[in-house]
Amino acid sequence: MPKRPPVAWLKGEGNYTKASRPPQAIRFIVVHVTEGAFWPSIRWLQSEQSHASSHYIISRRGRIVQLVHRSDIAWHAGNMAINRASIGIEHEGIVSDPAGFTHAQYVASAKLAAWYARSSLIPIDRAHFIGHADVPNPFRPGAVGGSDGHTDPGPHWSWGKYLRLVRKFAFPPEPVRVTVAAPNLRNGKLVKGTFRWRAKTTGPVRKVEVVVDGKVRLRDLRAPFGGLWETRGLANGRHTIELRAHGPRGARSVARYRVVVRNRPYVLRASAPLEAAGLVELQARLTGGKTKQVLLFLDGKRVDHDRSRPYVFSWNSARVANGRHVLELRATDRFGRTASKRLTVTVVNPAIASQTVADGVWTVQTKGRVERVELLVDGEVRATLTAAPFAWPLDLDPAGRTLVARAVGLNGAVAEAPLAP
Ligand SMILES: [Zn+2]
Repeated sequence: MPKRPPVAWLKGEGNYTKASRPPQAIRFIVVHVTEGAFWPSIRWLQSEQSHASSHYIISRRGRIVQLVHRSDIAWHAGNMAINRASIGIEHEGIVSDPAGFTHAQYVASAKLAAWYARSSLIPIDRAHFIGHADVPNPFRPGAVGGSDGHTDPGPHWSWGKYLRLVRKFAFPPEPVRVTVAAPNLRNGKLVKGTFRWRAKTTGPVRKVEVVVDGKVRLRDLRAPFGGLWETRGLANGRHTIELRAHGPRGARSVARYRVVVRNRPYVLRASAPLEAAGLVELQARLTGGKTKQVLLFLDGKRVDHDRSRPYVFSWNSARVANGRHVLELRATDRFGRTASKRLTVTVVNPAIASQTVADGVWTVQTKGRVERVELLVDGEVRATLTAAPFAWPLDLDPAGRTLVARAVGLNGAVAEAPLAP
């Protein structure tokens, strides 16, 4: 059954016959032309003085105004027998105007007439869809156009187009129906890892989409509809998963489930000594994901990366100043998750701050963490000092010899400096 198009009601008074016609009393649709503009025509047809009325009037833009109830008898045909058995539809326009009528007007009128054709069982033909000009003159046998010899709708009205549209709207195609459900999902279901989704559909489904939290993530164009949904790209917790089935002519069905994603969290573990010197080895140990890469940041700046196990980084602490530094290991997995660990390290590389020989004593000042100071003469260790102050009586004449102080710190880190002559 077609739907009746929307109408605006502007009821007239005193210019029609109250009746209670059942739908089957209506046998004709009578097509008229206003011979005037839309609003003036409405005001005229609403007024008592006009002694004329019409059930409907349709503007050139396709707007429908109803003036008389369909069960009442409007005075439009100039023939009371026809009036009693018909619905009158006025169309804004001029009979003699070669511009004719707009497509919107034909469509609106045909939708309205199609609804009457089906609800009153009126055959869609020229015997039942007539113009004012076809109405017999009730007083002069053989004459037409009603009692006043009207000629509307005239030669610029296309009956072929009109009846084609009426037939089209009277018998709209049956709506396509599709349904979808996921037999292995329900509200509250726990999902993890790679979930195999399946859709159970009815009707001519052409495509099923998987929509996660409002975003289309997957689609399948061939039955049986189903596939793999990777849940590890989502945060653990509640998510909405929708299966949307699409059929022809906009047919659609949606099944929505609130599921709980619970995957092992993606975690990065690493440790570093509180104090570091020399080469520092850092290892990122990752669980719960499929790692794509691990990046190493030093004080917020990316300094290294690694794409394969065992994600071990060798960081040379001698390249930075002694003091506190922040190292961060940041991993990304194949599902787009990240895991990171920040490590604060105090760098304590050894250094020789200064050294002197005075009164036959060789004294060395150091910086950083120093475990021992070695004093070398001509490349040979002559003294090893394990506690400050690092001072040693020089029992030889330094002239012509090479004197080097070596500070050994954490992790075997070494700093050397020759004694200036
Ligand atoms: Zn007319």
